[in-house]
Amino acid sequence: MIEDTINELIAYAMIHLGMNEFDSVYFKNILLGELGITKPSASPVDLHKIENLIVPDSLLEKVKEYLVNTKKMEEANADLFLTKLMGFITPNPSKVVEEFNKLEKESPKKALDYLYDLSIKNYYIQKNKIDKNVFWETNYPDKNIEISINLSKPEKNNVDIAKLITKVDKEEDRYPKCVLCLENLGFYGSVNQPARENIRLIPLKLGNEEWYLQYSPYGYFHMHCICFAKNHTNMFIDKMTFVRLCEFVDRFPNFFIGSNADLPIVGGSILNHNHFQGGEHLLPVMKAKPVKEFRLNKYPSTRLYKLDWYNTCLMIESKSKDELTSLASEILDGWRLYKDPVNEVYGIDLEGKHNTITPSIRKVNETYYLYLILRNNKCTPQYPDGIFHVHKQYQMIKKEGIGIIEAMGLFILPARLVHQSVEIKDVLNKSYDDVTIIKEYPDLEDFIPMIHELKRKYNKDTIDKDIREYINDVCKNILINTAVFKDTIVGKLGLDHFIGSLDL
Ligand SMILES: [Zn+2]
Repeated sequence: MIEDTINELIAYAMIHLGMNEFDSVYFKNILLGELGITKPSASPVDLHKIENLIVPDSLLEKVKEYLVNTKKMEEANADLFLTKLMGFITPNPSKVVEEFNKLEKESPKKALDYLYDLSIKNYYIQKNKIDKNVFWETNYPDKNIEISINLSKPEKNNVDIAKLITKVDKEEDRYPKCVLCLENLGFYGSVNQPARENIRLIPLKLGNEEWYLQYSPYGYFHMHCICFAKNHTNMFIDKMTFVRLCEFVDRFPNFFIGSNADLPIVGGSILNHNHFQGGEHLLPVMKAKPVKEFRLNKYPSTRLYKLDWYNTCLMIESKSKDELTSLASEILDGWRLYKDPVNEVYGIDLEGKHNTITPSIRKVNETYYLYLILRNNKCTPQYPDGIFHVHKQYQMIKKEGIGIIEAMGLFILPARLVHQSVEIKDVLNKSYDDVTIIKEYPDLEDFIPMIHELKRKYNKDTIDKDIREYINDVCKNILINTAVFKDTIVGKLGLDHFIGSLDL
């Protein structure tokens, strides 16, 4: 009975979300009213069962069933209602900030854990869905890459896409302006923006600006967080970016934090709102070894290395925040304007800016490690999608921009690859020719070279492993595509020349 479920939800909120007893009277009445019930159930709640719940999904399923079957609500509206309901029973935004700040005085990790746990318990991070994602790591002798097929990020259906196309979507007409804006706090949801009644944010001061911390609802890795500026302004990397990154790890040393680059193709999907991403995870590039150290004259307590990584990644190691941020900004400023025709690098030309950096930082004891991946977004007739973007032959695996997470070695691949892998196994099993493949599975057209390769060594027992290994190599090659200085004599000399051109 829905009346029993309401009692269970209130008990859940008291046990897992910190609702106090006095408020529980109030919220029970709110839920009764929202669900159109006149009188609560008098049956006792099995508290032991509620205590053992890790996520609220089993309770929410019962509410959804009631909404769809009894209230005849459309499924999409029922889903919106569930988010609203979880927003009601989660402590108010200011109360969460108060609790976070109190815990932070004991330990920053405790505070971060509290917000993370709350975000799972209140259905903002839908853990059940994230746990279904496919994840594996390559088993190369070194420089391993992490690969994940993300099933929790919603793929828009055709109806929603059609609505988007017909709607004039000017930024100033939008509310909130984007999915990262502060105004999402408590937002009911729309065709193109998700419901956010259950999101909770923590205000931060970074580089004398107001920023906010939240977790990512899609959780690409452990405790994947997002920090965003209060104002809806474009992504922009400059010296203050490095200062903010340092300040973040000073406050939360168990997290890394980084920023997407500030240009299209090499940046992330949201270029119009300045933000960082981080979390409690060591991304693969952070395990890469230094292969070369560059001499520094102006920075006595700082070291600069090139890392043994697939793309061009520098690492600054320093205990001095001043030296680190000054050196990083000298490298960035030099790189923005740098030109090296032999390596096809044109920092700036008549089309505009092409060179930028993807920075990220972590702190171990008192030492900062700042990673600077050199990026360039220039397109040519030979590479219309970008010289240093995913080349055509790999785009069936990943065609979107290679943002910070991928550039650092964790690939987030589209959900379609799950069923496409099943289709590939089917065509190999049935030895289809190319014409039949395209006829039976039109979405496999771009996979034909991959299928040919797999066919050469086809073995029914190892096919799953073989498909994964093929995907591994594609991801590795994509990272190599993004290297502005390749692992060749010309590339190595190019990087040396670039660093030599700076007066460091
Ligand atoms: Zn925004």
